[in-house]
Amino acid sequence: APKLTIEDLHASVEDKEILKGVNLEVKGGEIHAIMGPNGTGKSTLASAVMGHPMYEVTKGRVTLDGEDLLEMEVDERARKGLFLAMQYPSEISGVTNSDFLRSAINAKRGEGNEISIMKFIRQLDEKMEMLNIDQSFAERYLNEGFSGGEKKRNEILQMMMLEPRIAILDEIDSGLDIDALKVVAKGVNSMRDPNLGVLIITHYQRLLNYIEPDFVHVMMQGRIVRSGGPELAQRLEAEGYEWIKAELGIQD
Ligand code: ADP
Ligand code: MG
Ligand code: MG
Repeated sequence: APKLTIEDLHASVEDKEILKGVNLEVKGGEIHAIMGPNGTGKSTLASAVMGHPMYEVTKGRVTLDGEDLLEMEVDERARKGLFLAMQYPSEISGVTNSDFLRSAINAKRGEGNEISIMKFIRQLDEKMEMLNIDQSFAERYLNEGFSGGEKKRNEILQMMMLEPRIAILDEIDSGLDIDALKVVAKGVNSMRDPNLGVLIITHYQRLLNYIEPDFVHVMMQGRIVRSGGPELAQRLEAEGYEWIKAELGIQD
């Protein structure tokens, strides 16, 4: 089973330290949720683990199955089974969803081991149906003109097609109405497996009514300051973040 280990991770953006010592372990079969106020570094954590060049890791370790991820390029991390659904997915004109997915799958499988067209289409159809995605999506340009909800469902489609070992989902619930939220949750729940570890980043407890996490972590000011089970998310929903700030002596 996969194991992502983050130890004392510090990361900066434009010389400003955002992550100030994050520790987290995500194993196969587990769903973790990270919650926290806006601007606390949740997306920075996702980007630093994935290897976005904008985010400079200044200290700490990130490993997948004991292998040093920080030494690897982004595409190498993806080949090892790391997947990031981004908070703001990019649009790529001129590349269809279908082409994009097939090249991503083949890049992961490696030369000489490409997926057959038939198998690809069968899997794509099956997964698009589960996510209530219209057939026409496949031939549309990647995310171009997609609504917020369509982009999010498309991120989940990518995850389901790529079958990662560790998936980080950054605010896949933001901007979704309740029906789209249920569809996204159904997709994620269908992936629950000992060979997949999931890290869900969310601002709201709402998503966690549909995807039950095993562990909930609270991030503030670049650190994980509380960890617990689903009851922690419920307390945050009821009481907000003030009680944690008070316990920590944070003023803002
Ligand atoms: P969250 O996802 O928890 O809302 P972010 O990780 O997006 O927080 O942001 C944390 C802090 O880092 C914020 O102060 C934000 O302004 C800053 N930051 C993040 N990404 C960038 C960037 N690309 N350029 C400049 N500042 C950034
Ligand atoms: Mg934010
Ligand atoms: Mg964010």
